[in-house]
Amino acid sequence: MTFDDLKIVPSILKALSKENYTAPTPIQEQAIPAVLAGRDLLGCAQTGTGKTAAFAVPIIQLLSESPSKPTAHRRIRSLILTPTRELALQIADNIHAYSQFTDIRCSAIVGGVSQKAQERSLQQGADIVIATPGRLLDLMNQKYVDLQYIKILVLDEADRMLDMGFIHDVKKIIAKMPVKRQTLFFSATMPPEISKMVKELLVNPVKVEI
Ligand code: AMP
Repeated sequence: MTFDDLKIVPSILKALSKENYTAPTPIQEQAIPAVLAGRDLLGCAQTGTGKTAAFAVPIIQLLSESPSKPTAHRRIRSLILTPTRELALQIADNIHAYSQFTDIRCSAIVGGVSQKAQERSLQQGADIVIATPGRLLDLMNQKYVDLQYIKILVLDEADRMLDMGFIHDVKKIIAKMPVKRQTLFFSATMPPEISKMVKELLVNPVKVEI
């Protein structure tokens, strides 16, 4: 199996080849066609399996198929929520790499650093935002973030977000986005509260387990 077999567009293929990704990992083989087909996804996978590209590559492709607006009029069309700043920055780095030959722009919104640069980045316009829940809620409350155009939501490491006490914030964030959207949900474990969220948030999901 190659990325070409998964119907990845040339601009992204070029970036993957520059990153020396020669073939998709098992989770990528399963997840990429499902996400490109518009399906919701439930992924039980650990970091290190190629999980990030499994959701990031098809999201970049779906968003670049419908043209972005000029800079500053761009709307956030995909939101990726993660438990930690390190994970958010790592995902943002990966998305930068995979989207380098496309018109897609992404922005990382994380706590523990000054808000100013993040405000500026949002004002300049982003198609994809990768965020930790607390800082995102702060910026939403200050009207720097509008989630009403979200098409694809990713919850990454949902069980860790629960353990770290972020689930209440996550629910508040989700309440501000359209119900009609694609949702990709990743969790290494399925405690009862996570299973409940899965039932509430996902519609007929494709399940991938690695
Ligand atoms: P992740 O599970 O997303 O944290 O990815 C683990 C590591 O594998 C990262 O360093 C990725 O850059 C790398 N990686 C992801 N997919 C591939 C692939 N198809 N081929 C080679 N390396 C990959």
